[in-house]
Amino acid sequence: MAVKALKFGGSSLASAEQFKKVAEIVKADDTRRYVVASAPGKRSAGDIKVTDMLYECFKAARKKQDIEPYFSKIEQRYNDIISALGLNFSLDEEFEKIKFAISHHVGEDYTASRGEYLNSMILAAYLGYDFIDAENGIFFKENGTFDSEHTNDVLSEILKEHERAVIPGFYGSMPNGTIKTFSRGGSDITGSIVARAADAEVYENWTDVSGMLMADPRVVNNPKVINVITYSELRELSYMGATVLHDEAIFPVREARIPINIRNTNAPEEHGTMIVPFADKPNENIITGVAGKVGFSIINIDKSMMNSEVGFGKKVLKVIENHDVCFEHLPSGIDTMSVVVSTSEIDAIREDIVNEMFRKTKADFINIEDGLALVAVVGRSMVQQVGTAGRVFTALGNAGINIKMIDQGSSELSIIVGVKEEDYAKTLNAIYTEFVKD
Ligand code: ADP
Ligand code: ASP
Ligand code: MG
Repeated sequence: MAVKALKFGGSSLASAEQFKKVAEIVKADDTRRYVVASAPGKRSAGDIKVTDMLYECFKAARKKQDIEPYFSKIEQRYNDIISALGLNFSLDEEFEKIKFAISHHVGEDYTASRGEYLNSMILAAYLGYDFIDAENGIFFKENGTFDSEHTNDVLSEILKEHERAVIPGFYGSMPNGTIKTFSRGGSDITGSIVARAADAEVYENWTDVSGMLMADPRVVNNPKVINVITYSELRELSYMGATVLHDEAIFPVREARIPINIRNTNAPEEHGTMIVPFADKPNENIITGVAGKVGFSIINIDKSMMNSEVGFGKKVLKVIENHDVCFEHLPSGIDTMSVVVSTSEIDAIREDIVNEMFRKTKADFINIEDGLALVAVVGRSMVQQVGTAGRVFTALGNAGINIKMIDQGSSELSIIVGVKEEDYAKTLNAIYTEFVKD
């Protein structure tokens, strides 16, 4: 029988009203058999996600405070949903077990994961689907990385035993059985894992926007929906801040070549975005989208005659590696080399890095500039298209924005520019307006 795997995000499952929309979507298509659920998200702008409430609860327990005031608010969120759906179902026993575990100092990941665990139990009861606990079918290795093959072997067997099921997102288990979560937003990854294990024809990712938009809707007013995007383009955009889909969510489905369809729970009639292995049609706007992130620093290293010193780059990168820092970009000139890193990764160790860099490289001058934003202009149709970079730079020049760094990979799939953080919104808007004409 044909099968679709679905994932509903936090805002799609934040209240009873949203649960009703979800049930209507699931029931509208008989092949929608496996559903991954997030924890209840925000019901309105000022609301708090249940996952955040759970992290607070964990912190309180660690400080040996009474967790009751924290946990009772969480219970209330679930009980409100259960009663408004008219379900003859209680989570009271689960609440007691979880409270006991948290106050007896169980792990932070276990605590955070209970948001999806409880919500999935409610959704399974409401849909009349089976409940499959992710701890029995999603596994991490001893070193904390996701164990893709073991998971796929076990989970595909489990799914065969359940014609229809709800599976909580965000977590799995370690070899010793303890619960471990993915990074924030990780239910998108679970959805992808389930789609692969079910050999689904499509992975539908249901959220609160009508697909992947050409730019962040919080920064650019009313950006267009991207109809079709490739896995590679999506990876570039999501890594660079288009957070609608977790940037690691494409890996499981990519292997199985299952397309992802991003859809809007609040507007199910809209077709959303299809994410596919390859796209045969070029993009009408040349660029597919633009995304960015703030919070980067640039370490500048100057040394005369650097270009003729064999192994200079290796010494620089060794210092970065010694401090366990990941670097984003490595722009360089004849006598200068720069390393772009996330500010949060170097903040506490910046002096150590500079001192060791001086010692190891014998540089003439080293400084660190903070407040850098990175913006990626991404598009399969930019490949071998003359003039795209020129248009980006002209648009930024005309908007009075100074470009501090430029990077283009040889795939030509993206152009990355570094600008001052205060120019971030202006940069996204200038690029969007240059390429998208209504
Ligand atoms: P969910 O709770 O369903 O997982 P998220 O909040 O994680 O949803 O992701 C959806 C949000 O991503 C949107 O509400 C939007 O504000 C934000 N977003 C950022 N960049 C983009 C983009 N390029 N396209 C669509 N949404 C984006
Ligand atoms: N609930 C988790 C979070 O808030 C995972 C998710 O929503 O995807 O990050
Ligand atoms: Mg999300």
